[in-house]
Amino acid sequence: MTGMDARTRITINDSATVESVSTEQAAAASSAQPAPAARQAGALVDPFGRAITYLRISVTDRCDFRCHYCMSEHPQFLPKREILSLEEIDEVASAFVAMGVRKIRLTGGEPLVRRNIMWLIRRLGRHLREGMLDELTLTTNGSQLSRHAADLFAAGVRRVNVSLDTLDAEKFRHITRRGELHKVLAGLDAVRDAGLRVKINTVALKGVNEHEIPALIEWAHGQGFDISLIETMPMGETGEDRTDHYLPLSHLRQRLENDLGWQLTRDELNTGGPSRYWRLSHTGGRIGFITPLSAHFCDDCNRVRLTATGQLYMCLGQNDRADLRAVLRGKEMAGQGEAARRQQLQQAIRAAIAHKPRGHDFAISSTEIRGQMPRTMNITGG
Ligand code: SAM
Ligand code: SF4
Repeated sequence: MTGMDARTRITINDSATVESVSTEQAAAASSAQPAPAARQAGALVDPFGRAITYLRISVTDRCDFRCHYCMSEHPQFLPKREILSLEEIDEVASAFVAMGVRKIRLTGGEPLVRRNIMWLIRRLGRHLREGMLDELTLTTNGSQLSRHAADLFAAGVRRVNVSLDTLDAEKFRHITRRGELHKVLAGLDAVRDAGLRVKINTVALKGVNEHEIPALIEWAHGQGFDISLIETMPMGETGEDRTDHYLPLSHLRQRLENDLGWQLTRDELNTGGPSRYWRLSHTGGRIGFITPLSAHFCDDCNRVRLTATGQLYMCLGQNDRADLRAVLRGKEMAGQGEAARRQQLQQAIRAAIAHKPRGHDFAISSTEIRGQMPRTMNITGG
């Protein structure tokens, strides 16, 4: 921590176990060579030579659903004063874009329940028009898509991820504790009609939706949507035992191939995340398997995450973070012009990226969870 800008306040993991991982990482980092993509001038490169080109922003911790695996039934939402204003989010995101970030995803909580969220989306859309950003997208539960679909397209959004774990209205209500399936389905029709591409995100839940997943895949492909399956991750306390519903996707894939005789061939799409893609021969559609637990791909990781309170997390599954809100609202920033503010912010971002850990330590089995994070997914942004 010595020599680090005090305003950045990087919090390195508190537990001894994780600290020892950090030491190993530091040793590996000193011998790592920047990957070719990372060598361009001004790019954000972490200690392991990975270029950081993808920023995920949780714009709110609030949500109109209460999915069992994500949050408790009565979550304590953060006080509004702790949440970054839309202008502050734009300032941070734009600093990242100027440092080579090419993709931004807005998430949450539910991004479309944040008041005036379309202002931010339109504002960030300027980076697409200026050729500084390849993609502006969001992950949403779909409940508000009907009313926003056309505006999203007009702002430059061309693709959305929509979370949907079941097509059974009763089960949907049970999983989300309050969601209405028909609204999500209407939202999906609206975004497709507006010209956006859709990827469905489905959390695979043992004993809940596991037997419905083949039908869900065929439905998604029939609608022209890609679909990704996700393993439950140990993110925060939700009042439930996640080992009960953990379904390793490797088992599910075997079931699709061996029991149903489905032909899956590897699709080379690589988004630099924990997802690997396959083509299903009889539908022609794509299936992503997001396996942060049974197989992770941290070596290619290109992303960092900004929370609604301005904490920059370098890894979904570690506690290393930098407090960018403290930078934005610090005394040194008051009265400064745009260029000076940007410079301070970028300095803090660079200091933070220099501490991006090699990977996470999640592990889950039928009896045990390891690497559990204290924060729930709606805080970090899934
Ligand atoms: N509310 C939006 C939505 O549901 O799409 C965006 C935020 S949500 C936290 C983002 C994604 O995280 C969703 O696809 C959700 O299913 C997933 N998710 C939430 N908690 C999870 C957990 N514990 N393990 C795995 N995925 C989780
Ligand atoms: Fe809300 Fe998304 Fe979490 Fe479900 S997964 S409670 S929709 S933030």
